[in-house]
Amino acid sequence: MAQYAVIGLGRFGTTLGLQLVKMNHDVMGVDSDRKVVESLSGLLTHTVIADVTDENALLELGLTDYDAVIVAIGENLQASLLCVVHLKNLGIENLWVKATSASHHLILNRLGVTRIVHPEEEMGKRTAQALSYPMIREYMALGNKQYIVEVPVVERLAGRVLVDLLADVKGKVFGILLKRRDQLYPCPHEQFVIEKDDILILAGDRLSLTKLAPQLI
Ligand code: ATP
Repeated sequence: MAQYAVIGLGRFGTTLGLQLVKMNHDVMGVDSDRKVVESLSGLLTHTVIADVTDENALLELGLTDYDAVIVAIGENLQASLLCVVHLKNLGIENLWVKATSASHHLILNRLGVTRIVHPEEEMGKRTAQALSYPMIREYMALGNKQYIVEVPVVERLAGRVLVDLLADVKGKVFGILLKRRDQLYPCPHEQFVIEKDDILILAGDRLSLTKLAPQLI
């Protein structure tokens, strides 16, 4: 169990905090809006009303004891940046911050935060991906235009041998895992016969995966 502090309890901060609690972590939620804080008391591990542009208020929160601090203030750029400057002064090392614009990102980058998060942009990309390639349920970018994708096997593909399914992209797309109900089959061999509702995990470059995608419907 880790300890996280989420500063700014808008939709993103609240969802993040509640999800971390669900994952059995200890979460302190901080916001200047009393109503917001009261609505989350009892749902997050601790809740505090504080104006995080005030360095002394931040100091009192004892944030150096936390595994990570997440600043989820978006709209109020000044409050977000001032809070980050104070947190850096307090020596917070693992600092994740939500950014809402390119200039916000640039300044956060200069301030040396650990990770900059763009929830709207990232969700927009994922939604576009889901619309264009509905056969791909999840994906993970590995860099260099290479991806890992999760493909649920539809009825039409049941009974196909893996090597045939991947014939057009041989040597470019690899079956790295197959999940059948509660069973995992790492590196399924080429003659593996897939069944409906299997989950196939493939790795490959974007071009080859795009070529394969229509055959997975
Ligand atoms: P979302 O899109 O996640 O709903 P947002 O990007 O619109 O959020 P804001 O509305 O700017 O983000 O801020 C989120 C929360 O941060 C709000 O609940 C707001 O009360 C809180 N907040 C803003 N300024 C401060 C501050 N100085 N101190 C503490 N909390 C603050």
